[in-house]
Amino acid sequence: MSILASPQSAVRPRSDRPVAAWQLELRQAIRDPEVLLSVLRLEAACALAAGQFPLFVPPSYLARIEHGNPADPLLRQVWPAAEEDTPSPGFTADPVHDAQSALQPGLLKKYAGRALMVVTGACAIHCRYCFRRHFPYDETPPSEAAWSNSLQAIAQDSSIEEIILSGGDPLTVTDERLAWLINRLADIPHLKRLRVHTRLPIMIPSRATKDLLECLTGTRLTPIMVIHANHAQELDDAVADSLDRLRRAGVLLLNQAVLLRGVNDSLEAQAELNLRLIDLGVTPYYLHQLDRVQGAAHFEVPIDEGRRIMAELRRRLPGYAVPRYVQEIPGEFHKAVL
Ligand code: SF4
Repeated sequence: MSILASPQSAVRPRSDRPVAAWQLELRQAIRDPEVLLSVLRLEAACALAAGQFPLFVPPSYLARIEHGNPADPLLRQVWPAAEEDTPSPGFTADPVHDAQSALQPGLLKKYAGRALMVVTGACAIHCRYCFRRHFPYDETPPSEAAWSNSLQAIAQDSSIEEIILSGGDPLTVTDERLAWLINRLADIPHLKRLRVHTRLPIMIPSRATKDLLECLTGTRLTPIMVIHANHAQELDDAVADSLDRLRRAGVLLLNQAVLLRGVNDSLEAQAELNLRLIDLGVTPYYLHQLDRVQGAAHFEVPIDEGRRIMAELRRRLPGYAVPRYVQEIPGEFHKAVL
């Protein structure tokens, strides 16, 4: 088993290039729980897990956490709570059976017409409920050599029309290296769409650089970005600006969220999140039932409760603002709508 890799392994700026603002933020991320508690004035308020999944919180996300509030919904997503160490029956290291969908290390194919590249194991934040928190990222280093194997396999399978760049977070890779990868993907004639799964425009809004916009929109592939916001408090003015730049450049923006106990398990939280997304030009796409990954049982909301929240949400919001409530069931050909 492995944990998420250090972002530095993905960033690797060339020594002759200035370090971008978003790269500096990654370097300045808080990794020490004691420091986080001290900054948030929460000493002795939160018990700590002894587990191996490290804390990682970039400054711009930290700035959105309310000081002195141990129940803050953004803090809960990143705090290594002691409950992570409690064994929970049915919660496993690979809840969605990624290992069985691997065509080769770093390339997964679960659904018709689509393949998913694990571009890197690095992230801009460590979400405690992440279903890939135990993924063997050491088998898929963020290197052109590893990507080339995946490119070759994609080129040989003409049924693949859409490539999903995932991880970790693919936007922890520099623009220069992303452009290399995307240009090679665009050279594969049967690919039509480029989808990027990322939390970076939310975690570090300065990540939406001019070079990034160019490499996402500069090929014949249709660019789609699936961001990941779980609470309206994540969507401040800087994030709004970052999403606006992406949208104006021609990137289709969708959001996926996870239903999380203590974060967004209420009608009010869901209504506020999805209306804010609509106002920022992002279509609410999925609300995921939690994948039952080891260490995340304290985040689980029973499906019946999720259905009740969704029923109330449908009564309150226009249809376009209501995401589909879904669950990934290993071995199925599509996600189950709950
Ligand atoms: S949910 Fe996404 S951003 Fe969060 S730790 Fe997992 S891969 Fe990284």
